[in-house]
Amino acid sequence: NTFAEIDLGDALNQNIRRCKYVKPTPVQRHAIPISLAGRDLMACAQTGSGKTAAFCFPIISRIMQEHNVHRPRGGRSVHPLALILSPTRELSCQIHEEAKKFSYQTGVRVVVAYGGAPVQLQLRELERGVDILVATPGRLVDLLEQARVSLQMIKYLALDEADRMLDMGFEPQIRKIVEQMDMPPPGVRQTLLFSATFPKEIQRMASDFLSNYIFLTV
Ligand code: AMP
Repeated sequence: NTFAEIDLGDALNQNIRRCKYVKPTPVQRHAIPISLAGRDLMACAQTGSGKTAAFCFPIISRIMQEHNVHRPRGGRSVHPLALILSPTRELSCQIHEEAKKFSYQTGVRVVVAYGGAPVQLQLRELERGVDILVATPGRLVDLLEQARVSLQMIKYLALDEADRMLDMGFEPQIRKIVEQMDMPPPGVRQTLLFSATFPKEIQRMASDFLSNYIFLTV
């Protein structure tokens, strides 16, 4: 019933303490072990439920444990290991701020890219290296079309507020993005889908993007 009981790693546990999180929220208590175990997940989670940490903690923890975050960078295209898609600039910035706190001194680097702002600064941040990319779908499609970002290394995909992304008409962009991850070599991608509601469009997206997933409502 505490974060220390979940095997997230020392650096992350220390950051969790710094954030003054003592006890996991219900969605965290269930979603974190499922994602640490590598399973795909569709989770019902409202704003305020602690969903950001529910998908950030396992992603950061697994990147720390399973990947060399000090790998060499360079080249024109950057290759993040994790992608977090969210509907708006505000939400993306909020996730970015939280994810930076969670990944403090872990070596895991988080970068944000959203529309409605000049692309140059975002590109400069990306080119300094990125493990976790937080992005809005439209801006990410632009970056993919300019070949500034490659999704071929993505091992973790989180879709936050998926129902809102569909309401905003982002389904074609999301499909285009996921298609790029499915290019060979076949990925061993883990997908975490968070949504407040489950209309049939979301269920269809889950069956298209997730494999053998666990459905969680809290
Ligand atoms: P979210 O649903 O991710 O937007 O989180 C809502 C708010 O709850 C944010 O301000 C988080 O920092 C905070 N929060 C998330 N998880 C916990 C936790 N386990 N303990 C205390 N606060 C938390």
